[in-house]
Amino acid sequence: MAPVVYPTTNLTATEQLVFERGEGIYIFDNKGKRYIEGLAGLWCTSLGYSNQEVIDAITEQLNTLPFSHTFGGKTHQPIMDLAEKIREIVPVEDAYVFFGNSGSDANDSHYKMLRYYFNAIGKPEKRKIITRERGYHGVTVAAGSLTSLPANLAHFDAPLEALSILRTASPHYYTGRRGNETEEQFVDRILEELETQIQQEGPETIAAMIIEPITGASGVIVPPNGYYEKLQAILRKHDILIWADEVICGFGRTGNDFGCTTMGIQPDLMTFAKQLSSAYFPISAAVIPGWMYEAMIEPSNQVGVFGHGFTYSGHPAACAAALKTLEIYERDNMFAHAAEVGAHLQQRLRETFESHPLVGEVRGRGLIAALELVSNKTTGASFDKGIAGATAQRACEKHGVILRAVAGNALAFCPPLIITTKQVDDMVAAVSVALDETYGILREQNLI
Ligand code: PMP
Repeated sequence: MAPVVYPTTNLTATEQLVFERGEGIYIFDNKGKRYIEGLAGLWCTSLGYSNQEVIDAITEQLNTLPFSHTFGGKTHQPIMDLAEKIREIVPVEDAYVFFGNSGSDANDSHYKMLRYYFNAIGKPEKRKIITRERGYHGVTVAAGSLTSLPANLAHFDAPLEALSILRTASPHYYTGRRGNETEEQFVDRILEELETQIQQEGPETIAAMIIEPITGASGVIVPPNGYYEKLQAILRKHDILIWADEVICGFGRTGNDFGCTTMGIQPDLMTFAKQLSSAYFPISAAVIPGWMYEAMIEPSNQVGVFGHGFTYSGHPAACAAALKTLEIYERDNMFAHAAEVGAHLQQRLRETFESHPLVGEVRGRGLIAALELVSNKTTGASFDKGIAGATAQRACEKHGVILRAVAGNALAFCPPLIITTKQVDDMVAAVSVALDETYGILREQNLI
């Protein structure tokens, strides 16, 4: 094994797939085997693997100005153009954009900008952040503490106490309901618990709540109807900002421009990465409203500097990649395409898997979905240690589809936005064979 500390990997595992090249929605390993990239890499390669226009835009920028930083009075055209473009398309008033390199650092940047802002307006006590069980927001120190998945917290002494993070229930009805609770009763109960928590903590001590409109890495959870409407009313009532982490949902994934649009959320802050540049170059964006920026100007006047920034904040080649990606989304009506093919994916998944003995729930919206693998379809009982998810993931790879088992036994789909209905059918057919095989393997092991 090469001396790499592999990220988010069981470090004792020795099995590896080595990839060599990509083309459209397909990726090829070093033995020449072709796979459908059913998770768009890590929920990011929206335009697939061979978009020459994006490659040319990056190359041209590298040939002209391969680097220029943006600290202390320096700037360049691509960063200015990209910020203007983002302002034009986001549902945040007079948006300002802080650029970074990853979803994690964008969330850390938001965390710090919130502190900076509330200090600036003389409310330093308004500092706590609410996050949800099963939320995924990255792995840096603040973002990693906002994440609620056990593997991202255990052994890192996270969440860091000083970050003042509050946790509330995940809006996943299938795994979170009690007894015969209806969806509406479930929503009312978890939101009542949240409001009690807000009152106990004191709303004046809570800055924001971070939400993924539809969660990705923690199992593709689509909250029940009514959840966001009621949640927003509670947060507005208590003057708590809504921080939408659109790292996966942003740019067409859910069939609309943003996950917030699909789920009816009016965000104050937004986080973007991944599909912002279709992963051709790392870039992230932490979007804040104009009124927040105006207040942030004050302390920097006194202290002399807004002391937060990365060497590669707004790297020119990354901005060029993002600008071209956004141009292609618009020119090719990519979000309408994602809505259409996404509806087909959702329908095919339900038709094919709802009656499968291994599948407890089929869920998703647009081009993001998951199958919840269960050992007992009636009770919804799960498998230990993600054994079904891991087995299914391997079986899918054998049959030429890359998917990702997340949150244990949820098999996640998130193909490139450019996928066609025919390619969706190919993918679903291969996964169907793989799931039957998985069922057989788990039976042989007496796990069902
Ligand atoms: N937020 C969400 C919703 C994510 O899905 C991810 C990554 N899967 C992140 C933040 C972190 O992004 P990155 O891996 O680029 O740091």
